[in-house]
Amino acid sequence: MTERQANAGPAAGRVYLVGAGPGDPELLTLRAVRLLQQTEVIVYDHLVSSAVLDFVSPSAERIYAGKRRNEHTMRQEQINALLIKLALEGKHVVRLKGGDPFIFGRGGEELQALAAHGVAFEVVPGVTAASGVSSYAGIPLTHRDFAQSCLFVTGHLKDGTADLDWPSLVRPNQTVVVYMGLGGLADICRQMMAHGAAPDLPIAVVQDGSIASQRVVTGTLADIPERVAREGLRSPCLTIIGHVVSLHDTLAWFRPDRSSTAA
Ligand code: SAH
Repeated sequence: MTERQANAGPAAGRVYLVGAGPGDPELLTLRAVRLLQQTEVIVYDHLVSSAVLDFVSPSAERIYAGKRRNEHTMRQEQINALLIKLALEGKHVVRLKGGDPFIFGRGGEELQALAAHGVAFEVVPGVTAASGVSSYAGIPLTHRDFAQSCLFVTGHLKDGTADLDWPSLVRPNQTVVVYMGLGGLADICRQMMAHGAAPDLPIAVVQDGSIASQRVVTGTLADIPERVAREGLRSPCLTIIGHVVSLHDTLAWFRPDRSSTAA
């Protein structure tokens, strides 16, 4: 009998791919909280906030899978192999990822690996950064006076340049949300202007959205790289581009200095 057959049936393990949201633990789903409290092994990424990890059962085993840019604690194949191994041992495992596991989170790839090994899994969605971070920055992504569509793109650089579909990014009446874009911010702004976007198009860069260290820097395509550098923003940062950003001035509501006070 193979190891896989031996572990099939009621005693078989299971992997829960769970979204941890952008940071504020109040944004966890009920399902996520229940699983964090009941599951024996948690494998988590660096984007998961410490306040979210406070919900993990004290008796659970915590495994840090890392994955900061340029500093991959575990390679993706190692993470996949670990999840498969734990599940085949009969364990119930929460694979905890920042935001939503299906939005730039490689959650789909992990599930493909599990499926290939016959491991059972479930997915618990989370509040993705575009949604959670923009809410906490007071920027309604599709306020109808300004935008009829919203694009989510990754600004992750390959070979030093972001390889994006620039003509689609500069369409009018649209909001563009860039994940992982801090390193490529200057390049993104330059390319958008080169493809016809107005230099005074509003843009916001939000660091640590929804937690106490949240910072919002606003500007225009022309001046934001310099402003962000001056303010010393660091990862993780979400970039929001479009006229909706102008609403931040009146709709910003989150006071990070008071975020630890429960309502
Ligand atoms: N699956 C995640 C995204 C993973 S990619 C999600 O759905 O949100 C990682 C990128 O997400 C970061 O580089 C940053 O651009 C963004 N991000 C995630 N959490 C954030 C936060 N609290 N504040 C700002 N940006 C965040």
